[in-house]
Amino acid sequence: MATALLSVSDKTGIVELARSLHALGVKLLSTGGTARLLADSGLPVTEVADHTGFPEMLDGRVKTLHPTIHGGLLARRDLPAHMASLAAHGIETIDLLVVNLYPFEATVAKPGCTLEDAIENIDIGGPAMVRSAAKNWKDVAVLTDASQYAGVLADLQQDGRVSESTRFALAVAAFNRISNYDAAISDHLSALRPDGTRAEFPAQSNGRFVKLQDLRYGENPHQSAAFYRDLHPAPGSLVSAVQLQGKELSYNNIADADAAWECVKGFDASVDGPACVIVKHANPCGVALGANAAEAYGKAFRTDPTSAFGGIIAFNVPVDGAAAQAIAKQFVEVLIAPGYTDEARAVFAAKANTRVLQISLDGVQRDAPDAWSRGLNSHDIKRVGSGLLIQSADNHVLGLQDLKVVTKLAPTDGQLADLLFAWKVAKFVKSNAIVFCGDGMTLGVGAGQMSRLDSARIASIKASHADLSLAGSAVASDAFFPFRDGLDVLADAGARSVIQPGGSLRDDEVIAAANERGIAMVLTGVRHFRH
Ligand code: 5GP
Repeated sequence: MATALLSVSDKTGIVELARSLHALGVKLLSTGGTARLLADSGLPVTEVADHTGFPEMLDGRVKTLHPTIHGGLLARRDLPAHMASLAAHGIETIDLLVVNLYPFEATVAKPGCTLEDAIENIDIGGPAMVRSAAKNWKDVAVLTDASQYAGVLADLQQDGRVSESTRFALAVAAFNRISNYDAAISDHLSALRPDGTRAEFPAQSNGRFVKLQDLRYGENPHQSAAFYRDLHPAPGSLVSAVQLQGKELSYNNIADADAAWECVKGFDASVDGPACVIVKHANPCGVALGANAAEAYGKAFRTDPTSAFGGIIAFNVPVDGAAAQAIAKQFVEVLIAPGYTDEARAVFAAKANTRVLQISLDGVQRDAPDAWSRGLNSHDIKRVGSGLLIQSADNHVLGLQDLKVVTKLAPTDGQLADLLFAWKVAKFVKSNAIVFCGDGMTLGVGAGQMSRLDSARIASIKASHADLSLAGSAVASDAFFPFRDGLDVLADAGARSVIQPGGSLRDDEVIAAANERGIAMVLTGVRHFRH
């Protein structure tokens, strides 16, 4: 008769599983809490303590750590010497192990979790058994998640045994689970001091990722690639997207979709109204606010119709029929929005290649100063050589009170609104970034230049290509002007207000130039480099 050991913290589905195992003639062994639940459900179950002849002790810290358990899990059935050892010590084999661990991750995710709570929720005997069973996968099936119960039961009911391929897959899943569990413990403790207070940056980094899909190729066709998500993703992030239609996403699609989505998320629909962002090659080539999605799209498109061709378009509000009709006139690679009306879906259904993504905005945190408490994965990670650069995310939110007017002219309320809009966009433009705006839309975007002067020139050239006037425009610069020449280019183009961090050695020269040219300038004191 086969024997199963069941020891679970999350008791979901365990009674049903035990009942089916019992019906198949499997002997049930179990630890205290699990055994009580099974016995209360009328199932014959032997407590591990009775099986080993040794009581659970130290408040459950030692329950299953006993040779009778680990011998029964680890013995190789194909080695006579192993089986003889079991017989000599009166140890029975254990053929099926069902374990889920103390809820460490859920415990530390709770606000105010103390170091002591965290420590008490480190499971010791569970992972030890899981490792024993997974190592001996040829003879033992190990279940570490309730989602596996049905498949294993089906195998047992059909063939009287768990197939080799299932046992191997279960063992791999078991080692993944243990490794993620240990990483969660290591991540949490690495960021704490012995008194439980939080250290600046952890001594260890175990950033964990789960594969979502293989990609056809990487940034270029000769590169291979795959897409992974954080083990614990933040709400409303790209990895939670549901693809409603269209071709498979490519590597570049995903990278650009992320840029568009992160930028449009910066505009809170309940405060700023509907917003649309069009991205090409990781840079916004059009961003606008409007009375509705269609108007926001129309304005964003006008910034740079040439570049918008084949772009990635994101909205912070659901896309309706009118917006869909307008978008359908252009070639679009990917569309992202929190929702679509039936009418909009029908419009895109006729464009089978367009990739349509839906992402819920529920629970999105636009300014999360304590991003650190959400773990390492909320940080910004960049690969260098054989190392990583890790920084907290650039989630600074500029308030009106942070602005310092430094020119004789102060910006009007209308200019101020456009300056703040331009500043939000500039954060998502690769440095050096210069963004001309007016009337809630971008008018010219200069991105990714090695000189700020060239970015300023390019932004104004692009506006003229799109037949947009820069007269009276507001401009954001992601970092300070090192000389007055950049500011002169903006003034020549027609700018009347400027937002920039300040902090240059030549701030005085730049401020004097602004006064001379009739520009109202505000300093933010923060910069938004993006490389
Ligand atoms: P129960 O509710 O059945 O009393 O306990 C089930 C939990 O105990 C499972 O999460 C299992 O991983 C864990 N567990 C089993 N054996 C041991 C052990 O020897 N030490 C510790 N700390 N936990 C164990």
